[in-house]
Amino acid sequence: MVSISGMTVSIKTDLWFPITGQQGHGSRNIQHRRGNQNWVFSTDTKELIRVDHTPIVRHTKVREAANPFLDTEYFKQRKFNQGMKKLTGRFKLIWKNQDGCCYHCGMPLDILDEREIFFKVPKSCGGKEEVANMAYVHADCQRIYLESRSKE
Ligand SMILES: [Zn+2]
Repeated sequence: MVSISGMTVSIKTDLWFPITGQQGHGSRNIQHRRGNQNWVFSTDTKELIRVDHTPIVRHTKVREAANPFLDTEYFKQRKFNQGMKKLTGRFKLIWKNQDGCCYHCGMPLDILDEREIFFKVPKSCGGKEEVANMAYVHADCQRIYLESRSKE
């Protein structure tokens, strides 16, 4: 079964494609010669056209979501909102403070991604475990950060 502009028709072979009318009680498909075409299935008012005479037009499905490469702002906002929904208390505040973006690289964090808490002033330097001193970072970014620090 195939739907053509709201009308559902059955296609019995893949050579023939109904374009007009509906299949119903009165429809008879009669094979006969028309002009210089080969056999054409038609009735007095309806005719099937050959698919091989019809250019194939592929339709792109209507996008349900925006393109992540073009609508970066949209996706950033979406990720931010997902985090706001999932996090609670001070973790939500931390997320909000940094707009859902990684403190190290500035790229949006995904709430489902592996992430770590980064202490802007390290605890070893007296940094406190409070919202203002805490930031979310990508786990990978934190690893790179720690590696680069260990080389200093
Ligand atoms: Zn990052």
